[in-house]
Amino acid sequence: MLLTGDQYSILRKEGTEYPFTSPLLNEHRKGVFNCAGCGQDVFSSQTKFESGTGWPSFWAPLNAGVVGTTRDISLGMIRTEVHCSRCRGHLGHLFDDGPKPTGLRYCMNGAAMAFRLSVS
Ligand SMILES: [Zn+2]
Repeated sequence: MLLTGDQYSILRKEGTEYPFTSPLLNEHRKGVFNCAGCGQDVFSSQTKFESGTGWPSFWAPLNAGVVGTTRDISLGMIRTEVHCSRCRGHLGHLFDDGPKPTGLRYCMNGAAMAFRLSVS
């Protein structure tokens, strides 16, 4: 799959897009967000919420198997890095200040994902 420069720096170099730049931020239709690196489905519109951060945010992944996490100590912070379980492409970070029912906030880079409208 061909990646744009932004997609490459995020997925492969763990970059972060500027907030409020992703068209997926305001994607409110029913559908599925998939990894831009390999196409694996990673998040559903059903768990997307408005976090106010400027990044597409979810309170749960599509299922437990589609994303993996690592400890990220870059930038002088301890954060939980989130990546696609299939291609290991970096998607974003995980925080514990999200809404119910999980209390989790998956803070994702929109450029690391593509949206597929649900037909059902
Ligand atoms: Zn992937």
